[in-house]
Amino acid sequence: MAKYFGTNGIRGTIDKLGPELALGVSRAFGEWCGNGKVVVGRDMRLTGEMLRDAVVSGLLSVGCEVVDLGIVSSPTLEFIADKLGADGGVIVTASHNPPEWNALKFVDGKGVAVSKERGEEVERLMESEIEYANWEKFRPVQEYKGANEAHIERVLELANIGKVKEKKPKVVLDCGNATACLVAPELYRRMGCKVVVLNGEMDGRFPGRPSEPTEKNLGELKKRVVGEEADLGIAWDGDGDRVVFVDERGEWIVGDRGFALSAMLALMEGKGKVVTTVATSNVVKDVCEKFGGELVYTKVGAPYISEVMQKEGNVVSAGEEVGGIVWPEMGMAKDGFMAGAKIVEAVCERKMSEWMQELPEYYNAKTKIECKEGDKEKVLEEIGKVAREKKLEVNTLDGVRIDFNDEEWAIVRASGTENYFRVFAEAKSMEKAEKRMDEWAGYVREVME
Ligand code: MG
Repeated sequence: MAKYFGTNGIRGTIDKLGPELALGVSRAFGEWCGNGKVVVGRDMRLTGEMLRDAVVSGLLSVGCEVVDLGIVSSPTLEFIADKLGADGGVIVTASHNPPEWNALKFVDGKGVAVSKERGEEVERLMESEIEYANWEKFRPVQEYKGANEAHIERVLELANIGKVKEKKPKVVLDCGNATACLVAPELYRRMGCKVVVLNGEMDGRFPGRPSEPTEKNLGELKKRVVGEEADLGIAWDGDGDRVVFVDERGEWIVGDRGFALSAMLALMEGKGKVVTTVATSNVVKDVCEKFGGELVYTKVGAPYISEVMQKEGNVVSAGEEVGGIVWPEMGMAKDGFMAGAKIVEAVCERKMSEWMQELPEYYNAKTKIECKEGDKEKVLEEIGKVAREKKLEVNTLDGVRIDFNDEEWAIVRASGTENYFRVFAEAKSMEKAEKRMDEWAGYVREVME
């Protein structure tokens, strides 16, 4: 079991993730990267500079060559790590968490995030004696100033700017006072959009809205899209890897429907595999069936998506239920700015609401059930047995996913950090989804007794 690493890096408030831990883990990560070149960046959180300096110190102490990008989004760092042929990268960002949180996200030389399992390798190194580099090996930290510009230019190369310049769609960008401010307004202006910016000043206190792009947090964006008679609203989380959309009528679009549209656009360009987590809506499965995509499931968490993409050939699209979207031509990591650019192109052809009508409607219900720490594995095993006894289709890649038919499914998963199970069900009506949820939550309670 990993002691510090979660699904995607190490997260916490300062009492859990302070400079001491940042230093120790960075020394081990430097070793894990073969003491080579490591790219470092951070978001605008108030504790960012403190943690970044500890990370840099740890990396230098084991002889790494450190390239500091300054304040950047996660996709920008992932792109630059790949571009510079680095051996690894560290991003100081707590993504969508509240302002008092921070985190260290680690990526390998390909820009692929370090999962819990690979994090365990780093933790094992932390327990060993790590030697300091010989004094002659110490090198100055290199400052790399052009990261945001290089990222913007790459997206512009990949996007169909001609189409956007002709239509000049109006887009409202909710940058959430976060790293999206560094990329989004400039990028979409240069693509040819008319741009309206909300929460466009970076501020580690997140004064405009909480950083998670949920419907509740995007009320202002929804209103402005309608008020401005815009074609599209786009919002990002704190580190710019997740993106969600608001259609021209001011309707918020849930993350996996935004991803489903992206997969559909990708499959219209060319057939291939679509990679997503077992917790993603069947709307993605339907898109694959209709447009000739082969669906590949992964465990829940962005690092697993990138890992599976690397293993599988011919992946045309990948993504996760919370609005993480990967366009493989950009790299292995989810990139909210590239994903936004492709949707901007799409609204030059048809209205966003019309695109969304192409996707079947699903409803979902979810609940949490408290449990004891030691019980998790056993309960999941029992739930798998119950489903198999009922001759249902079972997938145990991550928790237990049960497909009842083409339209209805449920998943029972144990929380990685807290003592409860999550039960999620999806169906063609709210009533059916709730019924499935209640049924399987019931089995979880029964098994626990
Ligand atoms: Mg994020």
